[in-house]
Amino acid sequence: MDAEKMSGTASERPAATAIQPDFATLPRRVAADGRANLVGLTRERLEQALADAGVPARQTRMRAGQLWQWIYQRGVSDFDAMTNLGKGFRADLAAAFTVARPEIVTRQISRDGTRKYLLRIAGGHEVEAVYIPEEDRGTLCVSSQVGCTLTCTFCHTGTQKLVRNLTAAEIVGQILVARDDLGEWPKAGERPPERRLISNIVLMGMGEPLYNADNVRDAMLIAMDGEGLSLSRRRITLSTSGVVPEIPRWGAEAGTLLAISLHATTNDVRDVLVPINKKWPIEELLAACRAYPRLSNAERITFEYVMLKGVNDTDADAKRLVKLIAGIPAKINLIPFNPWPGATYERSDWDRIEAFAEIVNRAGYASPVRTPRGEDILAACGQLKSATERARKSRAAIAAEAGLG
Ligand code: SAH
Ligand code: SF4
Repeated sequence: MDAEKMSGTASERPAATAIQPDFATLPRRVAADGRANLVGLTRERLEQALADAGVPARQTRMRAGQLWQWIYQRGVSDFDAMTNLGKGFRADLAAAFTVARPEIVTRQISRDGTRKYLLRIAGGHEVEAVYIPEEDRGTLCVSSQVGCTLTCTFCHTGTQKLVRNLTAAEIVGQILVARDDLGEWPKAGERPPERRLISNIVLMGMGEPLYNADNVRDAMLIAMDGEGLSLSRRRITLSTSGVVPEIPRWGAEAGTLLAISLHATTNDVRDVLVPINKKWPIEELLAACRAYPRLSNAERITFEYVMLKGVNDTDADAKRLVKLIAGIPAKINLIPFNPWPGATYERSDWDRIEAFAEIVNRAGYASPVRTPRGEDILAACGQLKSATERARKSRAAIAAEAGLG
């Protein structure tokens, strides 16, 4: 899809935009001074990087484990503070590597405590991450791409022109930055607290995570690793608009919980709301859900359903919805539409949302209505979009600026 087509408000965009495969990830060159970032490297790649830097083969595994603990369990980015490593080794590391995170450009705190971070990544590109504190948990909503190649007509991110995939470092880096800001690193000798400020991760920020599946997987494997961020697999949820062929691979390689942006109960309506439906229609999407590994009451699929006034919110829709998902252990997350400047949709009325929820609930599915969080700072679902809209650029120009590939 050319950038022209992706621009403009929902009303200007053609309803039937062709689906394009995603940009390949632009391979990342090392930092300008030649040092490579250790954040986001898989264990294997970290061990290889250490070997390349002269660490003896029999030590690479142990060294990689030590580095992971400093980076992901203590939040340390200065090699000099890694006190269980010898002085000489620390100096060697500092000469060859960095431990770099995205930079916080702005941080907004909502009246309800939600925090939205605008982060700058290589090349001056920007993405957002949102922290949502709740009574029993704290959820970080993480972005996977700058903008999105898809053009769901109700989504603000879908109007953003500039797109590139985030690297694994930039994805896991969002978690590190949020933990920095929340002051959530245990001090030396302290045990990590029982209740973590960031207890859950949702891949529901900007971008379609399954169009950047390899990097998102590498980042989440670090998040789940006992020597990494130590988050439980069942506290990580990936949300997809329905990239059907990637769903089984995600199940096999990462196996986190899954959320599906369903949003409609007929292909005609879904073709307009979530245009990727023209490539992989509802039946194929639900077949992939039925085959998802470990699907059970303990590991239900979440179906996200944005409530759009007069578009997808009738009783008939609710009834069709429960028929469609019959047999799938599921919960239905009803999301009142969050408006953004230029949007052409309206939020369903409250009594309509309740009537819809009631039908779904009576059919035996939990149907929580997602309370919009951080609305005053445009941090709610589908409102994310880098503040700075940039001129249309070629892929080559983006790559050159980012110091990539
Ligand atoms: N690209 C992925 C994940 C990011 S969007 C996906 O589409 O699933 C996270 C959720 O917010 C999705 O269910 C998305 O459809 C929904 N969403 C997008 N725009 C919205 C809006 N304006 N109001 C409410 N929900 C929205
Ligand atoms: Fe992309 Fe998801 Fe927004 Fe659709 S809803 S445009 S897939 S971020």
